[in-house]
Amino acid sequence: MISEKMKPLVNNNSAIRAMFEEGKRLASIYGAENVYDFSLGNPNVPAPAAVNQAIKDILDEEDSTFVHGYMSNSGYEDVRATVADSLNRRFGTHFNQDNILMTVGAASGLNIILKTILNPGDEVITFAPYFVEYGSYVRNYDGVLVVVSPDTETFQPNLDEFEQKITPRTKGVIINTPNNPTGVVYSAGTLERMADILRAKEKEYGTAIVLISDEPYRELAYDGVEVPYVTGFYDDTVICYSYSKSLSLPGERIGYLVIPDELQDSKEVFNAATIANRVMGCVNAPSLMQRVIKRCIDEQVNLEAYDKNRNLLYNGLKDLGFVCIKPQGAFYLFVKSPEADEKKFCEACKKHNVLVVPGSSFACPGYVRISYCVSYGQIERSLPAFAKIAAEYGL
Ligand code: PLP
Repeated sequence: MISEKMKPLVNNNSAIRAMFEEGKRLASIYGAENVYDFSLGNPNVPAPAAVNQAIKDILDEEDSTFVHGYMSNSGYEDVRATVADSLNRRFGTHFNQDNILMTVGAASGLNIILKTILNPGDEVITFAPYFVEYGSYVRNYDGVLVVVSPDTETFQPNLDEFEQKITPRTKGVIINTPNNPTGVVYSAGTLERMADILRAKEKEYGTAIVLISDEPYRELAYDGVEVPYVTGFYDDTVICYSYSKSLSLPGERIGYLVIPDELQDSKEVFNAATIANRVMGCVNAPSLMQRVIKRCIDEQVNLEAYDKNRNLLYNGLKDLGFVCIKPQGAFYLFVKSPEADEKKFCEACKKHNVLVVPGSSFACPGYVRISYCVSYGQIERSLPAFAKIAAEYGL
């Protein structure tokens, strides 16, 4: 019954989800407080109180048939204008509502833009380690994901290899900064050089290459680090934003695409993307959540909680002898496995009820991802377990 295209997806079903199920199994045996599940990127900081209040107010104040009704497939005009104004205030851009397309989170935004631009056999480049779903999203439209190998010194993109991997079939490049799983933020210098390479290749091949910036973690940046706004570097850019992490609303499925005027054939792309949203079956972003975004455009989750977790876990693991670069954003640590086969290391961790995700799930074996969007208490309680693991490995 299952299609040939679905079979590999079923066979390679997410290791992260499998780990999550394992966490539940261990919790039922040892008690939840004795299991240290660092596997999922599910925000543990609550949505701002203003979000909950806005939901109540909208239901009380706005007309039901409007709040729950259909709207333009690209989203409510006033919501899109509010998003554009906010971006202009923060990043000195000059967007308007016709540059903003409301989406069902970043996952849907990525699918929309890939459906809009890809012909079968077109190539999309990304940088390891990367969010594993990119491969599935590109294959949804019969594209080919081309992976640039990681620079494990810095986890900044390897731009020399990137330049070599661009071909006349390259139609898109996906970047993710702040990055899942490394927490690295791409600097202005990195983006400048990436843009120079892309412009030169567009000229050399006479093609258009769309830089797709996947930004669910834009707001999660620490120590005052700047997360440069990508449209300022390269005209053929599309921003894919999500409120899943910035407002802790992953289950509500709300985000947007920015399709700037500077993008080649911008108006046609926007129109096609709006239709892609419809025919992919999303139809439009959730109506109630769009109305919430309008009221909560300046709201933020409590970043301090993530920052405290980041420092506790990073310093704790470093003191125990683990090797890891300090993340500047998102809520993940990408830790070097003390043995070459990181899956074996994950198994060793599991014996101490510590659940972490193998780097091979992000095309970067030899490392593990530890999500610190968990309670501070869990991190405190887990450190003695990490100490035992470190001792086993003679760190
Ligand atoms: N991109 C990256 C890098 C992610 O880590 C995630 C979710 O964890 C997504 C996209 C999907 O986010 P959303 O919930 O907005 O679909």
